[in-house]
Amino acid sequence: MEDTVLVVNCGSSSLKLALFDGQHRKLASALAERLNQNDAFACIAGDKDTIPLKPGTSHDAALEAMVSAFRDRQLITSVPAAIGHRVVHGGETFREAVLINEDVVSAIEECAGLAPLHNPVNLSGIRATLALFPGVPQAAVFDTAFHQTLPRHAFLYALPKAWYQDWGVRRYGFHGTSHAFMAVEAARLLGRTPATTSIISAHLGNGCSIAAIRDGISVDTSMGLTPLEGLVMGTRSGDIDPGLFDFLGSKGIPGDEVHRVLNQESGLLGLSGQTNDMRSLCELADHGHEPSKTAIDVFCFRLARYIGAMMASLRQLDALVFTGGIGENSARVRQDTISHLHLMGFELSEDLNKHHGEFSDGRIESAGSRFPVLVIPTNEELVIAREASRLAGAADPA
Ligand code: AMP
Repeated sequence: MEDTVLVVNCGSSSLKLALFDGQHRKLASALAERLNQNDAFACIAGDKDTIPLKPGTSHDAALEAMVSAFRDRQLITSVPAAIGHRVVHGGETFREAVLINEDVVSAIEECAGLAPLHNPVNLSGIRATLALFPGVPQAAVFDTAFHQTLPRHAFLYALPKAWYQDWGVRRYGFHGTSHAFMAVEAARLLGRTPATTSIISAHLGNGCSIAAIRDGISVDTSMGLTPLEGLVMGTRSGDIDPGLFDFLGSKGIPGDEVHRVLNQESGLLGLSGQTNDMRSLCELADHGHEPSKTAIDVFCFRLARYIGAMMASLRQLDALVFTGGIGENSARVRQDTISHLHLMGFELSEDLNKHHGEFSDGRIESAGSRFPVLVIPTNEELVIAREASRLAGAADPA
């Protein structure tokens, strides 16, 4: 048995596979997209040949093909020491990552009603690796677990309490793996310990969320019962007035259609009418495309509002942290967002903001800023690999 760790991340129509060595250095990765569709496809990073997939390939069949392609290329030469799975929704059952057994599988099934697009495919990934690698310890790492420390006043909606008691309607929060990584990395960069460090962590990718982390513990976050609430995202609206459902109902648009549009045709895509991709939007805005500029403005203003809102949960702020594809790469988004927050004392150095990658400490605030501002690359796969190794070690000291 090798001391490698395999990380499996099944999205609603995609699958990412990553292989780490015993020191948690990435050895290989592969991606499958458009699963269960006619043009399903998969490839290994850095490899010019695609992995052949039949039209309509499912997650488990894709996983088998990808593992077999890793084996053919001698990337996997024996059985991994541990396997880590990203699982989207752990409800109130899972407060941390766990080793997978039959009870855990049943509990993840029970949470599927809260994440119908994600938990079932997460489970098919788990079942596939259980069959491919019997006896290997496997860990489930939940997007929601880090936010299970939210206090009641932050996780309850102002709704009839029976909805929470009977059906679990509450704020759960997501991107927990990334926010947890920010809490540790920010403390390291600031020369502090996570348990004494308080940050606001903004994960800005195609999905976006923000979290208030007090002394290393999540105390508020923008995503809610589902990953639709909160910030403006690539195709998701974030916050809207729930009265919209009734209003659009009166125009003849049924609720499920409104829900689809809020998830798939809103956010940056809806506002710009062009694309959900922030980099493309910035280019379009630079060429004078007004709807793209508007989309960026709405995105940044909503984010600034939420940064203000997260302050209500903190006693001190050691850093505001930007991460995710947009947070790590868009100096424009960071600057436009911070420009709304003068009253709170945030200020960026134009130079550091544009060239942060050249400086190892990730700091981009100006000398006069009341709070440090950091840019930290996220690495959710690494967190999952570490958790899987840790739990596998605990399970099998031999
Ligand atoms: P993620 O989901 O974390 O991979 O992030 C994807 C988002 O990051 C997309 O909207 C990309 O356009 C955006 N992104 C990546 N690089 C840049 C960049 N240089 N400038 C602006 N946005 C970027």
